[in-house]
Amino acid sequence: MTARSSAITIDVDSLRFYREIHGLPPAPIEDDPIYTVAMPRFWELIDEMRRPPTLFLIGEDAPRHPAAFEAAKAVGAEIGNHSFAHDYRLTTRSSADIRADLSRAHEALLPLSPDARITGFRAPGYNVSPALLAVVKELGYRYDSSLLPSPLYFGLRAAAIAMYRVLGRPSRSLTGELRAFSGTQAPHPIDADLIELPITCEPLTRAPLFGTSWVVASDRLRRFMLNSALKRLDLINFEMHGIDLLDSTDRGVPPELAASQRDLKVPVREKMRAFRQLFRELAEHTDVRTLGTLAVEGALS
Ligand SMILES: [Zn+2]
Repeated sequence: MTARSSAITIDVDSLRFYREIHGLPPAPIEDDPIYTVAMPRFWELIDEMRRPPTLFLIGEDAPRHPAAFEAAKAVGAEIGNHSFAHDYRLTTRSSADIRADLSRAHEALLPLSPDARITGFRAPGYNVSPALLAVVKELGYRYDSSLLPSPLYFGLRAAAIAMYRVLGRPSRSLTGELRAFSGTQAPHPIDADLIELPITCEPLTRAPLFGTSWVVASDRLRRFMLNSALKRLDLINFEMHGIDLLDSTDRGVPPELAASQRDLKVPVREKMRAFRQLFRELAEHTDVRTLGTLAVEGALS
């Protein structure tokens, strides 16, 4: 079996949320480099490969940076809903609060969508619940792409959250439930109208094959992860974050964040080379589509 389709997806998470993850005190970030530095780099990569990506945007932040998403139209990019407030504890809220957050994000993000539609959702922090998915369905969406079926990632994140608690600087991250991190990574129906498109992990180890692991891996490890996924999966749903295209020398990246977020130490030149190589290989070996196209056209059966 070989991967026939792939999607390049980016969660455009503002830098302030990384402060929350690492338990750092809130501080205003003027002119957030995620929008002004990382996004232009992302479009440079996309321009070279000429395939449409899927962008999951935060309703509260993205509309303040419309210039960062102007390039979406020319390449037919898809805009997806990544919630309004990017609340890592969204699954612990009431259904009414979840509905209010997701609807508000939907309205805020519509003007950024090239086709004036939003049909997909990705949860903050990979945590979903039946109540959250019910709201996604109510919005008329066709797919959810929140699951990261990696027990390894679940364990590492739980350890990090526990460590920050011991250090007296609690993280906003939610440990979540192991069950959600250990299921299938094949696309599967949630119900008749809604499909789950899990984020891709290397199939043998279930190590996430996503932006952060891609930039810190050696060339040899990258080759192993990608070849294994190409060989064993029908769909590669590659997830990256805006922060994957920044390094600690970029203007506006707080030094205390660079000290906690180790992948910021990888020079951006090296990161761009790594992503360029990945995107080239995906374009060569698979049909690169948006998640929305894949979900709607049923290209996954
Ligand atoms: Zn996010």
